[in-house]
Amino acid sequence: MRWPFDNTFVRDLGWLGARVEPVPVRSPELLALNEELAAELGLDPAGLRSPEGVAVLAGNALAEGSEPIAQAYAGHQFGQLTPVLGDGRAHLLGEVVDTHGRRRDIALKGSGRTPFSRGGDGRAVTGPVLREYLVSEFMHAVHVPTTRSLAAVATGERVLRGRPLPGAVLTRVAASHLRVGTLVLLATRGSREQLADAVEHVRARHYPDLPPHDPMALLSAVVERQARLVARWMSLGFIHGVMNTDNMTLSGETIDYGPCAFLDAYDPETFFSSVDSTGRYRYSAQPSMAMWGLARLAECLLPLAVGEPDALMTEAQERVEAFAGIHDQWWLDNFRIKLGLVRVGAEDRELVEDLLGIATAETLDFTGLFRDLARVLRREPTPTLDRIEDVPRWEEWRERWLVRLDGEGKPVWSSADIMDESNPVHIPRNHLVEEALAAAHAGDLAPFEQLLEVIRSPFAEQEGLERYAEPADPAFTRGYVTYCGT
Ligand code: AMP
Ligand code: MG
Repeated sequence: MRWPFDNTFVRDLGWLGARVEPVPVRSPELLALNEELAAELGLDPAGLRSPEGVAVLAGNALAEGSEPIAQAYAGHQFGQLTPVLGDGRAHLLGEVVDTHGRRRDIALKGSGRTPFSRGGDGRAVTGPVLREYLVSEFMHAVHVPTTRSLAAVATGERVLRGRPLPGAVLTRVAASHLRVGTLVLLATRGSREQLADAVEHVRARHYPDLPPHDPMALLSAVVERQARLVARWMSLGFIHGVMNTDNMTLSGETIDYGPCAFLDAYDPETFFSSVDSTGRYRYSAQPSMAMWGLARLAECLLPLAVGEPDALMTEAQERVEAFAGIHDQWWLDNFRIKLGLVRVGAEDRELVEDLLGIATAETLDFTGLFRDLARVLRREPTPTLDRIEDVPRWEEWRERWLVRLDGEGKPVWSSADIMDESNPVHIPRNHLVEEALAAAHAGDLAPFEQLLEVIRSPFAEQEGLERYAEPADPAFTRGYVTYCGT
């Protein structure tokens, strides 16, 4: 089969990485193939399923035109700079221009050791690979910018993670794998010229409407996309878990689904990651942590800006701090729609905040709560709202909301449909994901496939799938821990 590779990264910035090939695996077996995405990429799904296709997806063979490279980057991990990270277990195979004319990276993750592996084995485990597949596909289904998953292939090899676990390779598709950490590496270790070349590559690829050689404009553009992205995460109860600067894309896509999770009961202080002992990346901290990462990006771009140093510093700071206001605006827009409000009202922020106050006090399921609000309008049963103990507080809020909805100038019930288009009924709930992965580990992929199908239609309530909309047992959520080292 033909892979229409056209590899600009290797061509422009080939020195920014190591030209190494994936390390073959013993007996590749396809676990999942994203046919819709394959078609979008101009790849033949049947060809990908064939032994030759699976060999490419496993890293056992190179497709024609593929020019594999392990990219170099740095990263601030939990606030501390690690000067050189890089793809320790990933290979960019190449880029294709998809059927919409968008350039996409096709990369393998778990594809063997590279010069950036440090002590690692270069491999990935089936569970986390399928987890990334599920969650990234959900994010796409709810219209959040994200890397995608094209395929998961079992390697037939064991990987040691305390105990031997089955290995797998994920094929990840991204607008690019260029990260804040990519520029951090060049700003700290590269020449000015290398940094400038990489920044120009980023501009041309992700922000073609911006003028070249205007690093401050680029900074603001990345700030805008990240602010918009994080506001989307907040509106879905998504906790990324490891917002290090190596896990922040310059394109504005969500990347790296290691320890991510979703809120069950609404508590802004929630975090699950085993390596995040202080909750640095807890739900409520995500906007400020994104802004922190963007301040690191500003430091990389400053040396390329022309002007008086103090004035430039002040300007860069202002552009980074603009994140707060931009995020806040997107956040409010997102939550306004969740309440069925299309027009802008002066009381909207208070309305959202008061509802979240009730959700916190009553430990209401975040996803179920917003879904129930539409049911209030339709006079249908509201299982999440029925748990509320402080009924007067809820009724007071409901009346205010109904009055506000009335101001929309259309029948109040008609807002329910708008709400259902932005409030998913099905999310990859933590307990469902774990259940699917446990079954896959035992050799049964059916629960994974079923969950994947459910979360690909996240807004549609379906008969027989009620179980998928129910929250976890609070005891499960209390004890839930996610892991990075996948
Ligand atoms: P992550 O936590 O997945 O963002 O990874 C952080 C860094 O560790 C990246 O440079 C990865 O390439 C590297 N890394 C993670 N797991 C492995 C592994 N099993 N072998 C080699 N490098 C790894
Ligand atoms: Mg990473």
